[in-house]
Amino acid sequence: MRLVFLGAPGVGKGTQADKVAAQYRIRKVSTGDLLREAVRNKTPLGLEAKEHMDQGRLVPDSVVIGLVREKLADPSHANGFILDGFPRTVPQAEVLAKVLVERGLQLDRVINFKVSREEIVKRLSGRRSCPKCQATYHVEFAPSKNGTLCERCGEALIQRSDDKQEAIEMRLRVYEEQTAPLINFYEKQRLLSHLNGAEAVETVYHNLVKALAAPQTA
Ligand SMILES: [Zn+2]
Repeated sequence: MRLVFLGAPGVGKGTQADKVAAQYRIRKVSTGDLLREAVRNKTPLGLEAKEHMDQGRLVPDSVVIGLVREKLADPSHANGFILDGFPRTVPQAEVLAKVLVERGLQLDRVINFKVSREEIVKRLSGRRSCPKCQATYHVEFAPSKNGTLCERCGEALIQRSDDKQEAIEMRLRVYEEQTAPLINFYEKQRLLSHLNGAEAVETVYHNLVKALAAPQTA
């Protein structure tokens, strides 16, 4: 099964991708993870990515595509994969289609997770994390029993800079500009299913499994 999960930051598609990956024994490929891994391992693409990230710029398509291409060539992905956070633009989607054709593969389904803007802002702006042990919390949905301190290690929790209100608005704007055309792109290929991501995690997952089992109708 080869899937693409689309959705703005904060829709919960990463969580759903983890669950689907475990159940169907396929790999989750997240561009965020790929970038962090490449930067950590100081690969040529990682070093290039780091230069852009350090200056607060978006990592160019060529780098992201290179990382995804490397990953999909890995035999552990033969069983299938879920792309989470990629493609982000129509040019990326076109390259992805080419990479898959080269390998004699095609996408089975693209899932678009929909959550209202207000709900996304609430989800993201409430996130807190521990700079020491990396534990994550949410002021409303999963608060620390220690208040503003980490439950596990007692360190003061922080709000990541990209989870601050202004940064969230900016991330959503960028997403909407880049991704609206992508939805049309996959709709035309009859690959797209829409899913309400605003419900409880288990409900979303239930609907997702149903959507994956259903024949493509869109
Ligand atoms: Zn901690």
